[in-house]
Amino acid sequence: MSVALNGVPTKEELKRVTPPEEVLAKKPVVMVECFQNIPCDPCAANCPFGAILPFADINDLPLVDYEKCTGCGICIASCPGLAIFVLDMNYSAREALIKVPYEMMPLPKKGQMVSGLDRQGCKVAEVMVQKVTRTKNKTSIISIVVPKELAQIIRNIRVEDAVNGR
Ligand code: SF4
Ligand code: SF4
Repeated sequence: MSVALNGVPTKEELKRVTPPEEVLAKKPVVMVECFQNIPCDPCAANCPFGAILPFADINDLPLVDYEKCTGCGICIASCPGLAIFVLDMNYSAREALIKVPYEMMPLPKKGQMVSGLDRQGCKVAEVMVQKVTRTKNKTSIISIVVPKELAQIIRNIRVEDAVNGR
């Protein structure tokens, strides 16, 4: 299997962490894009539904039980790697809702149009902010409405004049 050398995941890596089509078709669900064996496990510890399986070793990669995942998004802000997303492919006939982690300031506002970025940070569309959820740490959760065909492409947003909030 090929492994990303520049921080951008390979097709094989993404295929491995993409929820099954039948799950995506029926409910919102998490997609955990974590590919490095580092000592880190808050995602598993913070899922209230046990959907991210307990790690046998702190260096393990996360494993998801998609049947248990409710798509709540609680795990998103727990991840220091900003590697967790939630996909709702049934938001509307043509649109998906994606929850992404965000740590820049100022936060966007509900209803605001922002740039939807791919995993390389390139703008691929203007997308609408559907919800902004602050959490108890620096990571907020931004829900964005995207065309369904971009649901596996867009993984970040850019807000004009934003600076790093850390
Ligand atoms: S989205 Fe919710 S249920 Fe799914 S893995 Fe994350 S915390 Fe658990
Ligand atoms: S918290 Fe994030 S970086 Fe750490 S193991 Fe979980 S998904 Fe990977």
